Amino acid sequence: MKQARPRLILRPGKDKALRRLHPWIFSGAIREIEGDPEPGALVDVLSHDRAWLAVAEYNPASKIRARAFCWQQDAQVDEAFWRRRLAASIARRRLLLPAVEACRLVFAEADGLPGLVVDRYGPYLVLQALTAGAERRKAMTVAHLRELLQPACILERNDPIRAREGLPPVDGALWGQAPAEPVIITEHGHRFYVDLRAGQKTGFYLDQAENRRLVGEYCRGAEVLNAFSYTGSFAVYALAGGARHVVNLDGSAAALELAARNLELNGFDRGTWQNLEADVFRQLRVWRDEGRRFDLIVLDPPKFAASRSQIQRAARGYKDINWLAIRLLRPGGLLATFSCSGLIDRDLFQKIVFGAALDAGREVRIIRHFSQSPDHPVLLTFPESAYLKGFLCHVE
Ligand code: SAH
Repeated sequence: MKQARPRLILRPGKDKALRRLHPWIFSGAIREIEGDPEPGALVDVLSHDRAWLAVAEYNPASKIRARAFCWQQDAQVDEAFWRRRLAASIARRRLLLPAVEACRLVFAEADGLPGLVVDRYGPYLVLQALTAGAERRKAMTVAHLRELLQPACILERNDPIRAREGLPPVDGALWGQAPAEPVIITEHGHRFYVDLRAGQKTGFYLDQAENRRLVGEYCRGAEVLNAFSYTGSFAVYALAGGARHVVNLDGSAAALELAARNLELNGFDRGTWQNLEADVFRQLRVWRDEGRRFDLIVLDPPKFAASRSQIQRAARGYKDINWLAIRLLRPGGLLATFSCSGLIDRDLFQKIVFGAALDAGREVRIIRHFSQSPDHPVLLTFPESAYLKGFLCHVE
């Protein structure tokens, strides 16, 4: 016997996206709400003429008022349902595990688990609950993860998205004891310290794993600038790939401290790398004025556009750093440029880099396209899950 759920009734015409299995229901699409759903509660979503469409999780505090995850009317959405979803998400990574020690096991909507992110770092799991629904499911998720994976501990990390979803800040161990020190993971044979308790995001940028490997292949003999270096992961691949010298440039002293430890951990001579704590926008201008040159520049900035209203400003920011980086390259140099702003798609990013090249007066060719690693899959019904894009550019 199923208990009646509260219902969201959509406005006429607002059922189209949902019928194409897109999960997001914005506040403007809702005509009325029957019942009094709490944040994170399950709701049935109906069209204006009361055709049943999907089950969703409701959040009155979010612009994305509900997130649909099940389009089967007779499905029992109970603990077993969520356990199956979680197990399926982990099973999808079977091709990667255990060869890959550090890997995203759950990528939220793209894995049919709205708002839930789970990253694995060897025996440690780091979880983020980014929606009211994921928050409500958290204790159950922890129990299922323990049962499915027997981790040494499960940590939770905060994210600015939580505030936008009306959720309180969090941080700490959900199960077991957080390791006191950064842990060591192996990625493509290289070793990295990851600070699970205080690092950015869940500790490491797993989405760049493939791109680091690819960029490393172009570094032989090169003088490399790793801009927005975080803990120096691209630098390790660059030196392993035969780079002559790498400069890590980042605004975070803590990140650079770990970068130094990572370079030492991988056995690179102190004379082959340098860390510089500075603002990238400023430092690139300093080097432009000094006439400093590089053979290969990695530009991996943080997300510049968090909402539609920021797209214009973000585009200017991307153009600025790409323009400067192109100017700092020696003839025949390479630019590995990235954007992780989901709101700036690949076409727009290409146009931005085009504008930068034009203004820099250099002829630029894309010789490779980058995207996110396979443990961050793109669900075809949810194109928003494609967020990381990049180009390897040859600069004449
Ligand atoms: N390439 C890294 C991830 C970069 S994350 C990797 O693969 O691991 C973005 C980094 O940019 C963060 O470390 C952040 O500290 C840094 N950052 C953000 N804005 C900056 C700025 N204006 N100047 C310098 N560093 C900045």
